[in-house]
Amino acid sequence: MSLESQYESMGVSGKVLDFAEPVLEILRPRFDEIDRNAEICQMKVVGAMQKAHVGEACLTGTTGYGYDDIGREGLENTYANYFHTQCALVRPQITCGTHALALALSANLRPGDELLSASGKPYDTLEEVIGIRPSRGSLSEYGVSYREAALNPDGSFNEENIRRGINEKTKIVEIQRSRGYLTRPTFSVEQIGKAIEIIRSVRKDVIIMVDNCYGEFTEEIEPSDVGADMVVGSLIKNPGGGLAPTGGYIAGTEECVENAAVRLTAPGLGKEVGATLNVLPQMYQGFFLGPTVTASAVKGAILAAALYEKLGFETNPKSTDRRYDTVQAVTFHNPDAMVAFCQGIQAAAPIDSFVTPYPDDMPGYDSKVVMAAGAFVSGSTMELSADGPIREPYTIYFQGGLTWPHAKYGVLRSVQALADKGLITL
Ligand SMILES: *Cc1c(COP(=O)(O)O)cnc(C)c1O
Repeated sequence: MSLESQYESMGVSGKVLDFAEPVLEILRPRFDEIDRNAEICQMKVVGAMQKAHVGEACLTGTTGYGYDDIGREGLENTYANYFHTQCALVRPQITCGTHALALALSANLRPGDELLSASGKPYDTLEEVIGIRPSRGSLSEYGVSYREAALNPDGSFNEENIRRGINEKTKIVEIQRSRGYLTRPTFSVEQIGKAIEIIRSVRKDVIIMVDNCYGEFTEEIEPSDVGADMVVGSLIKNPGGGLAPTGGYIAGTEECVENAAVRLTAPGLGKEVGATLNVLPQMYQGFFLGPTVTASAVKGAILAAALYEKLGFETNPKSTDRRYDTVQAVTFHNPDAMVAFCQGIQAAAPIDSFVTPYPDDMPGYDSKVVMAAGAFVSGSTMELSADGPIREPYTIYFQGGLTWPHAKYGVLRSVQALADKGLITL
C-alpha cells in the first residue's frame, strides 16, 4: 500500500498531500536541525541516567511512607544530573506545573519577602498563586509582596525595569521561559542567561527561578546551565515524554530544593518520604523519550505554521522563527475555521476520535472555548491537542504530538477539515 492511499483511507486527500509536499520539502533542513538537537538531548538524558546508576531495582515503587525508595532517589538524581543542579524533587505528588511553581515559590519565600517577575505578566494560573487576583491561600495572604518588570513592546527583557524592580526585599526573581498563551516570543536559554546576568549585577544573592514549562529539550542547554537557581516544570508536558501519568519537578540548589521538599511533605521529613506507587517506570521511560517526543511536537508546530501561512492565516511564532517551546498559535478571524481545525485534530486522535468538539462554556473563561484532545494521559499537552476561546481574533493554540508521523497526520487532517467545510481552497 502506498503512503498516499494510506492517507486517503485515513481521511487525508491527495489534494491536501500535494499542497503539503512542497512545504515539507522546504522544512527539511529545519527538521534536520531539530533532530540534531534531539540527538544531543537524548545522549544527555542517557548520560544522566547512567551517572545516577539507575538499575532495574529502581523501577519498583514503594507504598505507605515510601522510606528508602531507591527508584525515587535515582529519578531525582537523574533530573539533577540532566539539569546540572545539586538536587531535584520529582514527584507524582506534585500534581501539575502550577503546583510545582506554587511549591517552589511558597517554600522559598517568607512573610515580608518580595517576588519579582522579570518576564512581565506570568502564566494565568500563577495570578492566583501570587495573589495578583485575590485567592484563598495565595502568597499575598502570607505577606509576600509582588512586582512585575514589564517587557519591551517586542517582548524582550527590559533591563531598566528589571534593575528598578529589584530592592532589598526581593527574594525570588521569576522568569517564564515559554510564552505560554501570550503573544510575546518565547525566550531562548541564551536570552534568559543575559537576564540572569543583569539580575546578578544588581543583587548576587536573590533566588532566580525559571518556569521551564514547555521548554525542556528544545535546546542543548537548560536555564540551570546559565545560572538559574531553580528550574520548575510539569511532567504532563515535555519531560514526562507522554508517558508520565502525573507529576512535576523542581531542580536546583540544595537549599531551594530542600525547602520545597519540607513544604511538600513536612518539616523534618522532606525528601525522605513519599511513596512512588507504580509510576516510576513511566517517569523514567517518559524522561528517556522526552527529547524525541519534544522534537516531534516542535516539527508538528512548524508544519502547522508553514501550512497555515501558505493558506494566508496569521501564525505565532512564524514557521521560520527559531523554536524554544512546543506551542503554535494560528489566528483565523473566523470561529468556524477554529472549530473545524479542532475537529480535524480530534479526528486524527488515537483515543476519542469518534467525538466531535463543539464550543462550550468553561469555568474561568468569559467566552465559549473549543478544544480537541484525544490523549492517553488526560489533559496532556504533550499529546496532539488544540484549544482556544471563541472570541476575536479567533486564535487556536496547537501543541503536542507524541510521534512526528502522528503530529503530521493531525495537521493534515486539520487542513482537510477546513477544506471540506469550504473555509479554504487548496
Ligand atoms: C502549562 C504551564 C504552566 C502550568 O502548568 P499546569 O500543568 O497546566 O498547571 C505554567 N507555566 C507555563 C509557561 C506553562 O506553559
